[in-house]
Amino acid sequence: MLKGITALIASGVIALGTIYTLPTVADANFGPSNPFYAPSTLPFHAPPFDKIKDEDYQPAIEAGMAEQIREMQAIADNAAAPTFENTLVVMEKTGQLFQRATAAFDAVSGANTYPLLQKVRAEEAPRRAAHDDAIYLNARLFSRVAAVYKQRESLKLDPESLRLLEVTYDKFIRAGANLSEADKAELKKLNEELSTLSNTFTTKLLAATKDGAYVTTDQSALAGLSEEQIAVAAQAAKSRKLEGYLLPLQNTTQQPELGSLSVRATREAIFEKSWNRAERGDANDTRDIVSRMAQLRARRAQLLGYPNHAAWKLGDQMAKTPEAALKFMDALVPSATAKAVSEAKDIQNVIDAQKGGFTLQPWDWDFYSEQVRKAKYDLNEAEVKPYFELNNVLENGVFYAAEQLYGITFKERKDIPVYHPDVRVFEVSDADGKTLALFYCDYFKRDNKNGGAWMSNFVNQSKLLGMLPVVFNVANLPKPAPGEPALISFTDVTAMFHEFGHALNGIFANTEYPSLSGTATARDFVEFPSQFNEHWALYPAVFVHYAKHYKTGAAMPPELAAKVRRAQTFNQGYKLTELLAAAELDMQWHTLPASASLQQPDAFEKQALEKTHLLLTAVPPRYRSSYFSHIWGGGYSASYYAYLWSEMLDDDAYQWFEDNGGLTRASGDRFRQMVLSRGNTQDLAKMYAAWRGKNPGVEPMMKYRGLRQSGQ
Ligand SMILES: [Zn+2]
Repeated sequence: MLKGITALIASGVIALGTIYTLPTVADANFGPSNPFYAPSTLPFHAPPFDKIKDEDYQPAIEAGMAEQIREMQAIADNAAAPTFENTLVVMEKTGQLFQRATAAFDAVSGANTYPLLQKVRAEEAPRRAAHDDAIYLNARLFSRVAAVYKQRESLKLDPESLRLLEVTYDKFIRAGANLSEADKAELKKLNEELSTLSNTFTTKLLAATKDGAYVTTDQSALAGLSEEQIAVAAQAAKSRKLEGYLLPLQNTTQQPELGSLSVRATREAIFEKSWNRAERGDANDTRDIVSRMAQLRARRAQLLGYPNHAAWKLGDQMAKTPEAALKFMDALVPSATAKAVSEAKDIQNVIDAQKGGFTLQPWDWDFYSEQVRKAKYDLNEAEVKPYFELNNVLENGVFYAAEQLYGITFKERKDIPVYHPDVRVFEVSDADGKTLALFYCDYFKRDNKNGGAWMSNFVNQSKLLGMLPVVFNVANLPKPAPGEPALISFTDVTAMFHEFGHALNGIFANTEYPSLSGTATARDFVEFPSQFNEHWALYPAVFVHYAKHYKTGAAMPPELAAKVRRAQTFNQGYKLTELLAAAELDMQWHTLPASASLQQPDAFEKQALEKTHLLLTAVPPRYRSSYFSHIWGGGYSASYYAYLWSEMLDDDAYQWFEDNGGLTRASGDRFRQMVLSRGNTQDLAKMYAAWRGKNPGVEPMMKYRGLRQSGQ
């Protein structure tokens, strides 16, 4: 995962405000005593966490927004004719206080939050959205950008500057800056209605998911769960003042308990609760919202000059068009479904061998595939974890792979202030000894930390502003008791490599303009460097270097290492098919034209899956339309494919490394020079093809997922 300013801006709904100046209430509270007032004097302009107090953030963010609006307005009001220098370059220099304050605030309020920070976050979220609108709907500012854009052929700009001009112009256009006043008014109404519907969808789905919990007073219905799970279920019922046991619903179609519940009727009942959670014809039914949102989004796209919502959303992505994303998914469908069908056969054999006397249904899949997994791939976590001690994984695995590939080295710095004692800071140096970046890591779980793992920047690299990158990784690994080693699972090892892949994208950033730097790339590209870096976790020369017993230092026994490796391909037909089904649903909804009639979600869904050859009885989509919150409640509309798209890129890229000697400095340096350091300074598809020597293909992805049918 990747968080940061770009993620916030890209969070989907553009709430169009009409205010072009923001209230500067906080200006009075903001002065030289605030640690954000002036640029940090610490090395790399690192945030002065020894001086920052929780109450310093809000006045700095408010003053930062006001300052940026004044700076932008000064550009808009400039009496001189618009030039690239006096418009685009000066725009890149605006908002430095805002950037300093929000980077530190977003990091701390995500990883080490307190009630005051939560309050500030809630208050500032809509103001930050309005702040963006105030810039991108400023008509005078847009007219200057547009004037420079019109002359772009004759300006003889260097490629990065031309890219900045194109990207900036495109942002204005996509926000609706080019529309007539009447159309802007309609756009504002559409955005408001969509934003309200999206909120209502989220609220209803939350209630529907809560109501969808499975409740029973009969403990024998829960046979297969552990004593601990049953105690948790009893506690969950009690907390809702109910008798018996309660299993809450997760957001996905499949539910975690279905892997262990041995009573088939219980499994079926839970699945039914999940599948129909938001389709009960009651107050929490979301189907009308889904249909209406699809229609309004199509209309908004039409207004902005696009054939459908997906075309609007994908315009600035690597895939560029819905057709390209659909073509990519279509190419995966035959192998994914064929593999799922063969997995289903394995499962049916188990059912028949046990004289089940029934045909496999979705609620049976996990229960029996778990038995197949145990027979074929059993991996005992307790056996594996002693070989994955956190610091050893970090220094002899994650850092080691980067040293081998890119020649960089790491030196811990204890003199840089941190926001929590668990945070460690490393200075990263280049092969020639030149200093490159600061890297912070904050790996242990805390109650006041958001779930999951992510990467972001405290300081964005920019030659224009003379800034080197300051990046950080956050995770939620279990913290050991004092004096005990932190032993982690292989999934967590992979997560560390993943987040460090994002970090490398930031560390190697080497661009002129801050808005094009590092991870400021498209959604279907940004997970590529991180997922690519995951591959090195299992690369033999890297694996043997870190997978050592924390007590004895002995290498992991080869049979165990082989099991770790083999487990990666388990159940991949199912997993890929359910993802493809969800991604196809998303794309089918969002390629509807504005002229399409209001859809009936169940019929639409069935048709969409049938049309894309993904209507498999035993493999339902990972999310059904009526509870697909990524696309109706979050910012992932027409973007769910991006997960798979970036997987195609990372596997295809790793294939190139395999074909070119594997882990070598020459290959690493070339990748760094042509991809990792380039940020968004080039068209991403062209950048990739220039490095790879051709466009990416799906073959390597099918190979690494174990989907090749040959020899099986
Ligand atoms: Zn990520």
